[in-house]
Amino acid sequence: MKILVVNAGSSSLKYQLIDMDNEQVIAKGLCDKIGLEDSNVKHKAFDGREYAAEVKMPTHSEAFETLMYALIESDAKVIDSYDEIGAIGHRVVHGGTYFDKSCLVDDEVAEKVEELRELAPLHNHPHYLGIVACTKTFGKEVPQVVVFDTAFHQTMPEKAYIFGIPYEYYEKYKVRRYGAHGTSHKYVSERCAAIMGREGDKDLKIVTCHIGNGASISAVKGGECVDTSMGFTPLDGFIMGTRSGGVDPSALTYIANKENMTPDQLSDMCNKKSGLLGISGVSSDNRDVSAAAAEGNHRAALANEIQRYQIAKFVGSYIAAMNGADAIVFTAGIGENDPVLRTEVCKHFEYMGVKIDEEKNKIRGEEVEISTPDSKVKVYIIPTNEELAIAKDTLAIVNSL
Ligand code: AMP
Repeated sequence: MKILVVNAGSSSLKYQLIDMDNEQVIAKGLCDKIGLEDSNVKHKAFDGREYAAEVKMPTHSEAFETLMYALIESDAKVIDSYDEIGAIGHRVVHGGTYFDKSCLVDDEVAEKVEELRELAPLHNHPHYLGIVACTKTFGKEVPQVVVFDTAFHQTMPEKAYIFGIPYEYYEKYKVRRYGAHGTSHKYVSERCAAIMGREGDKDLKIVTCHIGNGASISAVKGGECVDTSMGFTPLDGFIMGTRSGGVDPSALTYIANKENMTPDQLSDMCNKKSGLLGISGVSSDNRDVSAAAAEGNHRAALANEIQRYQIAKFVGSYIAAMNGADAIVFTAGIGENDPVLRTEVCKHFEYMGVKIDEEKNKIRGEEVEISTPDSKVKVYIIPTNEELAIAKDTLAIVNSL
């Protein structure tokens, strides 16, 4: 079965068409700048053929029509008709407490995704628009499935998700830790269990480190998330490309008072001007920051150092949370590609017998064990594949119908 995986953003629509018989990507692309004058599509087929054009896409509906044109009619077409698409899987950022797993879309589910926009204003509304536009293009015959970034974290116990503020805010507004990147943490922890030959083992303890532009770490015990570093929104945890991670809230109110900042400006500062960018003053991109550090830029070196140190502290806290770890997994842009970060983080665990094979650690972006045979804890690079994970969930749900 061919599954279309869709990630609808406020002004973009990313997609992949995956053949689930061999799990190969048949085509992928991006409809960008939806709603703007210069909206455009970039599409690439499995054999390298490409289609790129400026197309008027005032709304997500036209974006779906454009992606269907790219798939079915363009010079880089990969299928002959709509009928070849067996199902559609939508990435959805926030499932609140309502969705603890992926599910089939019906009117009620679509409305619930929209209702949850309160918890993820930048994401859930565009996802909803994506579902509506998709239904318009495909009708209701093609099953659609929603896969939530938060769902994997719904197994966390209360002690991990309740914040130390008056309980009434949880009761009134559902303010709690939800986590993020759940699809990725689930995918790499399952791959890790499979590599170790310990699928379904309730005692298997894995710390998964998704370190990209956005970054989070999870403690996964027996296949279930027991704690994660992202919080109410994807801002908590440790420093990221432009996000601050956890900061003493009093420091923020102090700055807001000094600088006459509104809550929204404060949030903007923490989300968009902090992290690697804010500390280094150079860039939010790890490569740029590391290059500047290598040239002697102190603030860039400090940003690198803080990121690695904070990651190590989270890994350590999750080892404590699970009373041990069998494996540590690195994934996403930085986790898969930055050997120095991996070495620096793992050095903090030499006391418990973690040993890295520095030759293997030079490998980038491949599924590989980078610990030595006598390391007491296995360390892996496992490239994440959120689209494939979404397609797999979609297939499982469609097969169960
Ligand atoms: P992601 O959000 O997962 O796409 O990851 C983006 C981050 O990965 C950026 O900070 C990049 O600088 C970083 N990254 C990608 N490739 C490399 C590389 N070869 N070495 C170091 N960092 C990399």
